Amino acid sequence: ALRITDECINCDVCEPQCPNDAISMGEEIYIISPAACTECVGHHDEPQCKVVCPVDCIEIHPQWKEGQDALMAKYRVLTAST
Ligand code: SF4
Repeated sequence: ALRITDECINCDVCEPQCPNDAISMGEEIYIISPAACTECVGHHDEPQCKVVCPVDCIEIHPQWKEGQDALMAKYRVLTAST
């Protein structure tokens, strides 16, 4: 999963780009729900939030490092339940 660092400027551009609806406004900055983030695996070749973020403040979540297989498995679970 990915996370947004405190360098976020709340510009709003990433939130509508997330195919998993994992991004929302938190108490102070935008946040990514790690359980819902597949790093865009299953949807796109690269994380769309990272593509659009103007300050490059989205990174791999240090407590949620997942390989491609795990991310694809998460994608399958998420899409099966919708
Ligand atoms: Fe924050 Fe970057 Fe998302 Fe803008 S695109 S809200 S700066 S994380």
